[in-house]
Amino acid sequence: MLPEQDAARRAVESAARSILGGAGYRRIETPTFEHTDLFARGVGASTDIVQKEMYSFEDAGGRSLTLRPEGTAPVVRAYAEHGMHKAPQPVKLWYLGPFFRQEKPQAGRFRQFWQVGAEAIGSDDPAVDAETIVLLHALIRELGVEGVNLRLGSLGTPETRADYREQLIAYLRANEDRVSPEVRARIDLNPLRAFDADDPGTREVMQGAPLLLDQLTAEDAEHFAEVRARLDAAEIPYAIDPTLVRGIDYYTRTLFEFTSDVLGAQSAVGGGGRYDRLAQELGLGATPGIGWAAGVERLLLAGEQRPEPEPVTDLYVAGTDVPAFALAAEARRAGLNVQQELAGRSRKGQMKQASRTGARWVAILDDEGTFLKDMETGEQHELEPTAVVAHVLKGRHFA
Ligand code: AMP
Repeated sequence: MLPEQDAARRAVESAARSILGGAGYRRIETPTFEHTDLFARGVGASTDIVQKEMYSFEDAGGRSLTLRPEGTAPVVRAYAEHGMHKAPQPVKLWYLGPFFRQEKPQAGRFRQFWQVGAEAIGSDDPAVDAETIVLLHALIRELGVEGVNLRLGSLGTPETRADYREQLIAYLRANEDRVSPEVRARIDLNPLRAFDADDPGTREVMQGAPLLLDQLTAEDAEHFAEVRARLDAAEIPYAIDPTLVRGIDYYTRTLFEFTSDVLGAQSAVGGGGRYDRLAQELGLGATPGIGWAAGVERLLLAGEQRPEPEPVTDLYVAGTDVPAFALAAEARRAGLNVQQELAGRSRKGQMKQASRTGARWVAILDDEGTFLKDMETGEQHELEPTAVVAHVLKGRHFA
């Protein structure tokens, strides 16, 4: 994060705080690293994240730790460890911070990136699903992201998925001579990933593949219909995508992803889904939940550039000697924004620097006395050193 990106990043944070905070979400920050096991179990052993993207290391005590690759498992852990199941449900939490994945860096894909995310834990009501999507939509819209598409799917229950997985494996085996070697090698490990493949052979095969959406139980189909009815009521446009696949194993039922046309290859802005199986898998007791995460860098890449104005410098103190330093300190104690000379510039250089900082006033302390220059009018007057701060505070122009 470079200084020129600070204002835009703060805009993401304040939009998230206002949209999510306004909907009753409270901010949480989990540790930067956790036990590797949390992610291995929470994200799923067959996922790309666990198989090849985690930064794991052993600490001096021989514990295997991992820089967090995602936020949901840690938030669910915190929910259970801090007794949040005793609070009114669902517990609504949001987070913003850095995440780490060992990936090949490219435009919009980094090894350390920031995510803003939201989790609603403790209810499986379809209204929660729809509300989380509405809130991510609001955040994306507030940040002026262009060319937004929302894809929506449902993964059903683990049982439906297991049956479907067998069917898909059988289908891929029957067609294995037509799919890419990568897909063939992973048929048993992660057959769903075949829907993501780019090569023409696999794509052709997948056009005839069985679809999970056609096989949802009546209950799951009803849940999905209830979510859609609420998105329709909220006037959120979406496309049903029966092939929507996400790289995290613990999703059940609702699944969604927002993309932006302006992002190129890494088009995913943010997405999420329901994870009713996750808490139980972590040994924390069955608790339904749903959440999403959006990439801050991608929100900024695809969003409208609206830098906030820089803070105003009230006073620039020319001079680095002790009296000048004392004056700067006094002005800061009085609540003024002060910059002071720090590089031994000539008087002319100091005045140039003062106008670069956008200073409203400049205090010049030299052998001839103390002078205050009004940078709006160019007027300069001598005054007592003790009177400088009061003058600036009053914002008084000299007559
Ligand atoms: P995921 O947990 O993979 O669904 O990621 C959620 C969001 O985080 C994605 O939609 C991206 O916007 C962002 N994201 C994921 N991985 C990266 C990365 N390596 N670099 C930058 N942003 C990422």
